Amino acid sequence: MRKKVQNLLPMDTHELPAREKALLTHELLNKEYKPLKLEPRRSHMHELISTMLSHRTNHKDEEKAFYTMLERFGDWEGVMSADFDELADAIQTTRYPDQKAPQIQQTLRLIKEERGEFSIDFLEEMPVEEALAWLTKLPGVGIKTATLVLLFNFKKPVMPVDTHVFRISQRVGLIGAKVTPNKAHDLLLQLLPPEPVELYNFHIHMLRHGQRVCTYYTPKCEVCVLQNICNYYQDVRAKSIDKAA
Ligand code: SF4
Repeated sequence: MRKKVQNLLPMDTHELPAREKALLTHELLNKEYKPLKLEPRRSHMHELISTMLSHRTNHKDEEKAFYTMLERFGDWEGVMSADFDELADAIQTTRYPDQKAPQIQQTLRLIKEERGEFSIDFLEEMPVEEALAWLTKLPGVGIKTATLVLLFNFKKPVMPVDTHVFRISQRVGLIGAKVTPNKAHDLLLQLLPPEPVELYNFHIHMLRHGQRVCTYYTPKCEVCVLQNICNYYQDVRAKSIDKAA
């Protein structure tokens, strides 16, 4: 069990401007979870298709779908020309397999038609904005998938915003309550150090923090290192003081 944190920051730290809070958040989470090296965890095509499969699906089920699909159809050519129902069946451990199956096939078709092979290696040389535009025109590939592939595999300076990054950023007050997840990519990018390895660590640490501490239903604020910079915590704390008075 985690210990209650000893907060060394002043209580009014949450009133700092968003950029300073973002840098402090990054620093505190780096201390808590330790910085990681930025190394691609899987091939470029694997990352792209797996991230498409991962939408609203946990990692274990996403992996199961990916390997079942390749085992059943052999390679990307086989997946692209597979019978629709059989492909949807192979990836049934993911959410929305009936939507994902045609999106994956269409994506593979577009890559093959445009590049002559099942490869997105060319993104390495492409400027960031162009690479983002190219990826997001693929069916089923939104800004979250595109930024994740570009940061994790090509080490481009972009900010993937998943549900954890988004929730914690709003609670802490790095982005406003009305900001959409799509807009949050750009806003957070402006607040953080531009180096890809820093953006990667921020993303991974926010993900871990969201899974372990700042969870959706019951955030464990009493053990959170972000307490004194967090708007949500300050509101909760103020209410409990009001009640006790
Ligand atoms: S103090 Fe609470 S709400 Fe704020 S980041 Fe930590 S766990 Fe989340």
